[in-house]
Amino acid sequence: MVLGMIFAAKFVDFILPPRCIVTGDIVDKQGMLSSEAWAGLRFISQPQCDRCGIPFDFEHDVQERGEGADCAACLREPPIYNKARSALVYDEASRELILPFKHGDKTHFILGFLPWLKQTGGMILEEVDLIMPVPLHRWRLLQRRFNQAGIMASYLSKEVGKSCCLDGLQRVRSTPTQGHMRAKERKKNVKRAFAVNHKYTDMIKGKRICLIDDVYTTGATVNECAQTLLNAGAIYVDVLTLARVVKPVNG
Ligand SMILES: [Zn+2]
Repeated sequence: MVLGMIFAAKFVDFILPPRCIVTGDIVDKQGMLSSEAWAGLRFISQPQCDRCGIPFDFEHDVQERGEGADCAACLREPPIYNKARSALVYDEASRELILPFKHGDKTHFILGFLPWLKQTGGMILEEVDLIMPVPLHRWRLLQRRFNQAGIMASYLSKEVGKSCCLDGLQRVRSTPTQGHMRAKERKKNVKRAFAVNHKYTDMIKGKRICLIDDVYTTGATVNECAQTLLNAGAIYVDVLTLARVVKPVNG
């Protein structure tokens, strides 16, 4: 299914003139953004938490913690994953890109996302052995027809020349959507929701893995996936997402 969508995306790429994926203005190259669309996006850069990648937006944070430090939330409760990085702040502008991609009518957006993922992933992508998407439950996969994280993982692995395992993780129980849940509820919601596909246990054992998803919200999902992979013998698990929710860092 994912492969079919990828071929479809390549086909769309082939027949259409290069246009900005947001505004539709003609641009030099497929996947590029017009300057108007670009201006609305907030890219995440240093200084940021070394673990979860949240930007240290506030002056006191940078002064108090300095670059390369962990944020208060990560110090209080260290994540199970090793490091997480996201290209964009999840806000109105990035949502306009991500939602149509997620719901399957704008799969060619991946061409615009790839350079951002590659740049944001930097060292993470260089050092890992295997790229894997956060899975959807098969019912949701049926509804939505494809897993957006699977498309991202598949394209990115080709771009950076790393192996990709699309079906290595499975959702073993369907979980309610987490839209309005708080961090604690999300954690409970995804508890034991994932399992390693037995076909791929040898592939996962002893590997450094980069998990891919579209949006990082509280980290509950990727932490649970990371725990599942660590239990299966992965050395460590990093996380790369297109966007992340950024809330003011307190304390
Ligand atoms: Zn952090």
